[in-house]
Amino acid sequence: MATKEEVLEALGGVMDPELHRDIVSLGMVRSVEVEGERVRVHVVLTTPACPLKGAIRQSVEGAVRALPGVASVEVEMGADVASGRRTRKEERLPGVRNIVAVGSGKGGVGKSTVAVNVAVALAQSGARVGLLDADLYGPSVPILLGATHESPEMSEEGERAVMLPLERHGLKVFSIGFLLKDTDAVVWRGPLLHKAVQQFLEDVAWGELDYLVVDLPPGTGDVQISLSQLVPVSSAIVVTTPQDVAFADVLRAIRMFRVTKVPILGVIENMASFVCPTCGTEHRVFGDGRIEERCREHDVAYLGAIPMDLRVAPAGDQGRPIVVEAPDSPPARALLDIAARLAARQSVLAHSGDR
Ligand code: ADP
Repeated sequence: MATKEEVLEALGGVMDPELHRDIVSLGMVRSVEVEGERVRVHVVLTTPACPLKGAIRQSVEGAVRALPGVASVEVEMGADVASGRRTRKEERLPGVRNIVAVGSGKGGVGKSTVAVNVAVALAQSGARVGLLDADLYGPSVPILLGATHESPEMSEEGERAVMLPLERHGLKVFSIGFLLKDTDAVVWRGPLLHKAVQQFLEDVAWGELDYLVVDLPPGTGDVQISLSQLVPVSSAIVVTTPQDVAFADVLRAIRMFRVTKVPILGVIENMASFVCPTCGTEHRVFGDGRIEERCREHDVAYLGAIPMDLRVAPAGDQGRPIVVEAPDSPPARALLDIAARLAARQSVLAHSGDR
């Protein structure tokens, strides 16, 4: 019969492929039970969306099974999302582990669509996810999640009145759209805008979250600055389309995040190709690989491409994100992959801050 120590020693040889450290020293092995020839190992990943879950499970099984006296190995996988921020007592949102901002150089590139689908994908993986629609000028999250006529309920937290986020597709959602009527046209002046962002963060009962995804307005502006001043933003993603060959708008957005000290997780290329619904051929309508090349030139990670698909817009209009409506469709599969990659990179970032 193998001892617990022998099992742990064997697990000490299993590396996390993303973090390049062994899973024991990373604290990912929560428990080891040995019962005769049967061994049970409980492994806790840094994110339930880990794209390498299967590979890690296999390595754990292989390492333990190789020990003399072991006939069967049972691996239980869980997740405990690492915090990508330094929490100080006086900070806002102490229960939120990672704040991920989604921006774009300009409007109409699919930023909100990507934010909503990535958030739902993370929630589907088992993470606790919130989505804050901070696109004050054109909030589209209420439509994309089928919550146009909803208004938030109030509750009390200690002596304070707070607004409860809505629940949609496993997400906690809040949008400025919940507070405005369709006919309201708001001119957001600096202080008012800052106050609105502050309210989203302070007066909404977000509770405990692994990820709060924030859908920012397009371009660079005051909301980005307010957000980074009010809370430590863990990371940012920039969505673009292949037409932006000059990459100028993307670079402006990236520069803005860099100036406000927000680490950039990478660029997502939306509507990168078009799959013909009749013949299934994929057409790179706007050329091939240029955004990826630009990313390399400017030393920013390329997180992946999402194809254009005729199902995305109608699904969004009906409040059913494509990862829910057609999870096997090419855009949904791309979004699910991107969400996993993003969560993995965020874990690496959170751990690199520990050292
Ligand atoms: P933004 O937030 O950048 O302004 P939206 O998310 O509102 O952009 O998307 C703009 C339009 O493009 C919407 O009608 C949306 O449904 C559509 N769209 C976004 N991504 C795709 C895609 N991959 N395939 C097809 N249509 C898309």
